[in-house]
Amino acid sequence: MNLARILAHAAAKHPGRPAISRGSKVVHTYSALAHRVARLAAVLREKFRLAPGDRVALAMTNSPPYLELLFGIWHAGLAAVPINAKLHQREFAYILENSGAKVCFVSPDLADTIAPLPREIATLERVIVAGDADYEELLAPRPAACADVNGDDLVWLFYTSGTTGRPKGAMLSHRNLKAMSDNYLEDVDAITERDCIIHAAPMSHGSGLYGLPHVLAGANNVIPESGGFEVEETLGLIARWPGATFFFAPTMVKRLIHSPAFAGANTSNLKTIVYGGAPMYLEDCLEALEKLGPKLVQIYGQGESPMTIAGLSRDEHMNSSHPRYHERLASVGRARQGVEVRVVNANDEPLPPGEVGEIVVRGEVVMKGYWQNPQATSDALRGGWLHTGDMGAFDADGFLTLKDRSRDLIISGGSNIYPREVEEAILHHPGVLEVSVVGRPHADWGEEVVAFVVAKPGANVTAEDLDAVCLQHIARFKRPKDYFFLEALPKNNYGKVLKTELRAQLLTG
Ligand code: AMP
Repeated sequence: MNLARILAHAAAKHPGRPAISRGSKVVHTYSALAHRVARLAAVLREKFRLAPGDRVALAMTNSPPYLELLFGIWHAGLAAVPINAKLHQREFAYILENSGAKVCFVSPDLADTIAPLPREIATLERVIVAGDADYEELLAPRPAACADVNGDDLVWLFYTSGTTGRPKGAMLSHRNLKAMSDNYLEDVDAITERDCIIHAAPMSHGSGLYGLPHVLAGANNVIPESGGFEVEETLGLIARWPGATFFFAPTMVKRLIHSPAFAGANTSNLKTIVYGGAPMYLEDCLEALEKLGPKLVQIYGQGESPMTIAGLSRDEHMNSSHPRYHERLASVGRARQGVEVRVVNANDEPLPPGEVGEIVVRGEVVMKGYWQNPQATSDALRGGWLHTGDMGAFDADGFLTLKDRSRDLIISGGSNIYPREVEEAILHHPGVLEVSVVGRPHADWGEEVVAFVVAKPGANVTAEDLDAVCLQHIARFKRPKDYFFLEALPKNNYGKVLKTELRAQLLTG
């Protein structure tokens, strides 16, 4: 089934409900959106002469045309290539060339960055600014019929965040994203047509993906006027729109609740914050629960198995009388509905609870492979299971705890040290805002542990204090040998700490 049909379905069921809003105003109802999408598809197929399977890129900050373009592309039987709007021009060029996209839609802020690229990328035929008067002119007068596709056809080429090396294009199919949307409704949250998702996080990633179950349910997709996450604006939108859901990186949850504006804000419209994409530390999670109440759901996924590997439900976040409550909060929850998850050793043999190995997953959401990269595909999907590159262990009740990506593991004097464990220990210090732990090459030990620390404004934190906290919580040999105090940790647009940059800083002194 063509994924675009979920929009036609919502338009038939909820024609007058808001589909897209900008700030506090409705921009399109469901029936208007469905009509525009079919007209856009006609342009792509008839005017631009794009053929089934052709790629169309989106280099766009969150804005009202984002979702209509995704659905227009799918309705026409084409594949979308959403690109992180914060990338450098060279990174855009790499993805545009690698994907072979013929057309790239850009938001006005990115027009100058992308406009010169067709001169150097032979496959890129046109760059079109989305949302201005010319774009409105472009829409064809007559709608196109929804293209027939095979469920396994490419729908979204999801470029990995590339925290190391070149990004790879995970090929997601119509079937994958329909399964992801259904699974959301099964075990993340219920959605009604009176709810909304507020896209404060990038739509090229989790927030855009979670627009899909919201379309399925006929809910409103609200785009902040800033196109991103400004705490005061976000709080204003919460006050405006009932039944509000967000997809947030854990650092965004932290920024929201630490903002002075949060204390006096009315957040009764806030329904759910689904967080994921990077570790949520126990101390931070406890603080968020105290301030937000029963509104948190965690998901663990990756571009290759979008948003769906494991999850910690709203109820599990609140089950504070359970003897293993804290361990559970520090986990990524249980395997999600619709996927099988295992922890395996280097020979791909399943490991029993308590033993750490690589997390592998299979199910309807798992990608078809990497775009034009058969070697990486066969490595990642060997034996029919997606190898996530994440290390973790199940407990006896099926809760999965992540132990960092295998490449972040520190091996010092032959012992494995998981940075996450050291980070959790350091965060017990009340003056620490953020921390990231990495390995530094060492002649005798192979590697030694070092920590990069950001103190809370006005807090006085010393290496001695942090050493003392570590001694209370973890084995001596896991203590950092050095602490570096920074103003902020280097992060990518999705809120992931760039450990590669921290390691590079160590090498350049
Ligand atoms: P991406 O493909 O950009 O979504 O990145 C996926 C990676 O982010 C995963 O392989 C994990 O390493 C990390 N990640 C995703 N969700 C979580 C989570 N809930 N807790 C910790 N790390 C996560």
